[in-house]
Amino acid sequence: MQAKLLIEKKRNGESLSNEEINFLIENFVSGDIPDYQFSALLMAIYFRGMNKSEIFALTEAMLNSGKRVNLRHLPVPPIDKHSTGGVGDKVSLILAPLVAAAGVPVPMMSGRGLGHSGGTLDKLESIPNFRTALSLDEFVEELEKINVAMIGQTDEIVPADRKIYALRDSTATVQSLPLIVSSIMSKKIAEGAQGLVLDVKTGRGAFLSELDESLELAINLISVGKKFGVRTTAYVTAMDQPLGNAVGNWLETKEAIDALKGDSPADLLEVTLTLSAEMVVLAGIESNFQSAKKKLIQLLESGKALEKFIELTAYQGGDVSVIEKPEKYPASKHRYAYRSQKKGVITKIDAYKIGMLSNQLGAGRNKVTDIIDPTAGIVFFKKEGDEVGKNDAIAELHYSKQMDESFLQRLMDDAIEVAEDEQRFEAKKLIIKYVSENGEIAEPDLS
Ligand code: URA
Repeated sequence: MQAKLLIEKKRNGESLSNEEINFLIENFVSGDIPDYQFSALLMAIYFRGMNKSEIFALTEAMLNSGKRVNLRHLPVPPIDKHSTGGVGDKVSLILAPLVAAAGVPVPMMSGRGLGHSGGTLDKLESIPNFRTALSLDEFVEELEKINVAMIGQTDEIVPADRKIYALRDSTATVQSLPLIVSSIMSKKIAEGAQGLVLDVKTGRGAFLSELDESLELAINLISVGKKFGVRTTAYVTAMDQPLGNAVGNWLETKEAIDALKGDSPADLLEVTLTLSAEMVVLAGIESNFQSAKKKLIQLLESGKALEKFIELTAYQGGDVSVIEKPEKYPASKHRYAYRSQKKGVITKIDAYKIGMLSNQLGAGRNKVTDIIDPTAGIVFFKKEGDEVGKNDAIAELHYSKQMDESFLQRLMDDAIEVAEDEQRFEAKKLIIKYVSENGEIAEPDLS
């Protein structure tokens, strides 16, 4: 087989066989197919898509690029959650310790920032010395001991995803359904999760922004889960404006710590509790959503979820003093307050543009080798639907490199809309749809 001929085949819109997909993944991981050829293949997949059997084959080939963890010996089925990528989405940092405190093992393997979206690993690593590169033995041992572990792709598990993920980020091929499905599901199947709750984002800041595309993504993710024996359900949630108030690695980690201490923006809490309750039900710890949610609220209020996050951080080598005293954390060199130029109501905070701007401030990478500034990002004081007076601060930008304030103001003006006539703003639903294990789409019942 020749990579060039297979790229040509996909470029021409033909489908690839299982053997061809295996050949491409194996030889890319071993280094025999160079990045430039694999980039061309990714672009061909981006434009031509893949059918269901190609998506299964791609997921399986990626899964087989490394080891597969077996967690069947744990007394409660391990359940994970994964988001398809958003801005300000620090849910995992709250949810993983919270659900673990409820008695469900949470084996969480996450990614780094991708495109305009943030990544859980970068957020965790804003905690000094927090190690996300654990060996598989360490991963399993941690789960056995403290019921939760949060790690990144390693050379042992799904090395194919690590390589492809980095290449997609720098070749504008992130927004592709087959590539998203195989990336997420290969990791989740390999890490040993027996159940998975997906947060499929939709809207301006999601990789697939239209609701019908997001539902198609959810259905594909669920069908791959089913094929590989992982019980998978999904919520489709809004990603038009950033989730919560903070965007940027440490700023988001601090917001997650505050949420674990009982102080959370309402949207962040709603998404976190919804996904967490679904996990607790999937694991069989509670029989219904309402009782699961009640239990989780108690765990937040009693401080048990925060204790679990401290335990997890200490276990993975992180400096717990910044959790206990976040004010100890070094601040960025510069701050710039973005103010409203008129009185009115905020009708738009464009999550995509805010994610891109936050990256420019230093919170994300343009190239794989770029170093992240953990203190960089944006904190919002107002969100969509809030009223503002002329000159009121809407957000504060945090950064340490030299940046021109008038340039920052222009980018913020472009991302944010304030309308004088508040009638024009109609609040959208946050939790939009639920998709069951069988791929049935329903209105979410969150009562
Ligand atoms: N999360 C992943 O792990 N992969 C993607 O492609 C998108 C979100």
